[in-house]
Amino acid sequence: MHEAQGFSTRAIHAGQEPDPLTGAVVPPIYATSTYKQDGVGGLRGGYEYSRSGNPTRTALETCLAAIEGGTRGFAFASGLAAEDTVLRALLSPGDHVVIPDDAYGGTFRLFDKVATRWGLKYTAAPITDLDAVAAAMNADTKMVWIETPTNPLLNIADIEQLADLAHRRNALVVVDNTFASPYLQQPLALGADLVVHSTTKYIGGHSDVVGGAIVVQDGEIADAIAFHHNSMGAVAGPFDAFLTLRGIKTLGVRMDRHCDNAEVVAEFLAGHAKVAEVRYPGLSTHPGHDVAGKQMKRYGGMISFRHKDGEQAAVDLCARTEVFTLGESLGGVESLIEHPGRMTHASAAGSVLEVPADLVRLSVGIEDADDLLADLRQALR
Ligand SMILES: *Cc1c(COP(=O)(O)O)cnc(C)c1O
Repeated sequence: MHEAQGFSTRAIHAGQEPDPLTGAVVPPIYATSTYKQDGVGGLRGGYEYSRSGNPTRTALETCLAAIEGGTRGFAFASGLAAEDTVLRALLSPGDHVVIPDDAYGGTFRLFDKVATRWGLKYTAAPITDLDAVAAAMNADTKMVWIETPTNPLLNIADIEQLADLAHRRNALVVVDNTFASPYLQQPLALGADLVVHSTTKYIGGHSDVVGGAIVVQDGEIADAIAFHHNSMGAVAGPFDAFLTLRGIKTLGVRMDRHCDNAEVVAEFLAGHAKVAEVRYPGLSTHPGHDVAGKQMKRYGGMISFRHKDGEQAAVDLCARTEVFTLGESLGGVESLIEHPGRMTHASAAGSVLEVPADLVRLSVGIEDADDLLADLRQALR
């Protein structure tokens, strides 16, 4: 697999050579926990136990590294399992992390309710503001955690500038690339040390599997992650790895369609009388539009907007759509709608991460754009 090959060629082929025994063009689901040894220590394919390694997972991990432009990929049971492993592998009690002040709710909960009990300190800062991030750093800051675009406000952080700042102060840079997907944004090339994903979202792409990933460039970081991947054990199972790999093959075409549809939906919402504000990085009115244009191929499939008539109207709207399914999560082929204040971000209530009560979030799927517009039109009536 050549670095020079295009994104979709890598997505379809990296780690997925035809099976040498049968010629099967798709890597089999190796549903096995252990591997026969030919004499003690005589491993046939380098595998000894499936927490440590499984060929279906290896295929996925090789592919993940190839599509993120990294050297090593690691597949986890969930995005949060991947995040937890990053923290334990690379930080120690007493270390400090700067996190986005509108991070994904589950990420915030991991820092606030789990990692702090374990001795980690954090400051939530607006990561769109370089000076605010610099001010939030202290002598113990070992990591800057970036999410861009952010969930659910679609704020855009400048990865290159934040990486420069963090590296000047000897802090590692992690980018949660879930919202953009590696098709739209390549954080390692912009200076990030680690990329994490909830592969549950765009990478898997079909709302049928929960998973996570870490991709890294540096060998020492890779070794630390590899050790903790096995030692903490939050690995992806072979069935989940298979489904995720199946999803990855169409990531490029799916993302283009998500973007096409989201652009149309964002324009429609921006012109609607019941909509107070649309948050979509592709709109020229979005404060992060220029930075997004610089670091993203296109602007993605996520949109959030504020209902002019307030919280109850936003909640009612979510119950009235028919093509947009009311549900948490995002990044699948089907369009989803949700009320972050009461659903995905309910755990951030009362914190700095609390979201506006009249906010509605859309994950724009790959259905026909006309049907999406008709559905929003009737629901906003
Ligand atoms: C969903 C999500 C996660 C958590 O991933 P899980 O697979 O649900 O554990 C992390 N970050 C972002 C941006 C997400 O959307």
